[in-house]
Amino acid sequence: MHLLNADLHCHSNVSDGTLSPAALAERAHAGGVELWSLTDHDEIGGQARAREAALDLGMDYLTGTEISVSFAGQTVHIVGLGFDADDEQLAQGLEHTRAGRRVRALQMAEGLAQVGIPGAFEGALQYVGNPELISRTHFARFLVESKVCNDTSEVFRKYLVEGKPGYVPHRWATLQDAVGWITNAGGLAIVAHPARYRFTANEEFALFTEFKALGGRGVEVVTGSHSTAEAARYADIAVEFDLLASRGSDFHSPEESHMDLGTLPPLPGHLTPVWDALEARILQPA
Ligand code: AMP
Ligand code: MN
Ligand code: MN
Ligand code: MN
Repeated sequence: MHLLNADLHCHSNVSDGTLSPAALAERAHAGGVELWSLTDHDEIGGQARAREAALDLGMDYLTGTEISVSFAGQTVHIVGLGFDADDEQLAQGLEHTRAGRRVRALQMAEGLAQVGIPGAFEGALQYVGNPELISRTHFARFLVESKVCNDTSEVFRKYLVEGKPGYVPHRWATLQDAVGWITNAGGLAIVAHPARYRFTANEEFALFTEFKALGGRGVEVVTGSHSTAEAARYADIAVEFDLLASRGSDFHSPEESHMDLGTLPPLPGHLTPVWDALEARILQPA
């Protein structure tokens, strides 16, 4: 089933995307997506709307989220798919992970004010759809809109990554917690866009080894964040660590995302897709 048009990673305005869950469902459907998941950062508040819209359109749906984790001094993202959206432990874990974003944002704004960019907290808030989820993306949108930078990637490069004035280090969930919350809720944990991290070979080996030992099951191979060469590299990692392979655009917004919903290349045929292991968790139209 590796030719199924599955798009299992994207964001709505419940986290740092710009479209509503229902509008995203329509866009996914229009893009030919047959199996879809909304994976907002540290949040499942959009799940009911996403599921309902997907099923109304005749599209299969998997519950989803993308949890922020601190590992070896970096932020790693763990996608969870096919969990029970009513699970208490998962809901509390996500709530705990979201806490602290507001204070972090105030500190980011202080850092930006010190280099001559005042009002960034209030500015970023104008773009926030969920008051519990103010993210760097919202600051980036404000700095583009106020003409400090030309696009969001320039904002990140100049202001929002480690060593830059708007960067504030943050302690997210542990790998163990994130994998545990997802797995205990009946879902499957997946390492998101592994090529995005700046790990040494040893650190990356440790990430996948620990992830597997904790019960993690999959890795994103084909994603909007990977080049063709990177997809090939993580296809090899999937084989080496016996992980299921996932596919998702990581779509955030029509203006910012270069990869639209449903337009990714297929998974390499020798890999086992995550959706093969999630058959019993897929929600289907009546
Ligand atoms: P946060 O969770 O607040 O640290 O924000 C992380 C989000 O920022 C990611 O999910 C991406 O949407 C976005 N992001 C991170 N790095 C970049 C980049 N270089 N260019 C554009 N967006 C980025
Ligand atoms: Mn994001
Ligand atoms: Mn991510
Ligand atoms: Mn994402």
